[in-house]
Amino acid sequence: MSHVINDLKLYASKIVHTGLVVGAGGNLSMRDGNIMYISPSGFDLQEIEDHQWVRVNIETGEILDDLKPSSEILMHLECFRKRPDITAVLHAHPSYSVGVSSTGHNIPSLFPDFPAMIKSVAYLDYMIPTTDVLADAISGVIEENDVVVMRNHGVLTVGKTMKEAYFFMQIIEESAKVYTIASTVGIPRVLTVEECEDLRNLSSEKYRSKLLKDVR
Ligand code: 13P
Ligand code: ZN
Repeated sequence: MSHVINDLKLYASKIVHTGLVVGAGGNLSMRDGNIMYISPSGFDLQEIEDHQWVRVNIETGEILDDLKPSSEILMHLECFRKRPDITAVLHAHPSYSVGVSSTGHNIPSLFPDFPAMIKSVAYLDYMIPTTDVLADAISGVIEENDVVVMRNHGVLTVGKTMKEAYFFMQIIEESAKVYTIASTVGIPRVLTVEECEDLRNLSSEKYRSKLLKDVR
């Protein structure tokens, strides 16, 4: 089995088991040359068989298999077109990120892994899922951000590897969760801009971030 299908299956299973999606929510894709492999629409992601990942020509958008690809196909294609440096796109509906962002709040840096691993996060106001309007909005922010929070919907992350995209997803969700917990106890202290910068400059953090980008 190709490593692309292997990774897709592994992380499809992880995002279901870690509760980052429920039901038929979410979708994921990987680039293999000029072909994108994307989850079929409406599936429980952990149930997708090897032959059911839908192939799409990244340049033309032509669908090369019979099964209907994810309804967010346009958003995934835009990511690969705008970011030649990435191989993976992940979209999930993580509860805390959706909850916090739906209030209009952004998700603050409360612990080191967030600023150390994620350079910046874009926030998009609610747009109807699956539309070219949403895909265009993603296209406008994905060059500068590996993480996009779509208020009242979910999160999209991209990575040099699927592992990196998955770590970004976990970290943004953990940050939203910690923020929610902290806000029920008191007023959390947010890491300062300088503290975030210091974390990014640590050689220990640079090493940890680089590991996630290494393709086997
Ligand atoms: P698909 O099942 O079509 O991939 O849609 C799920 C989703 O999350 C839409 O935003
Ligand atoms: Zn969605």
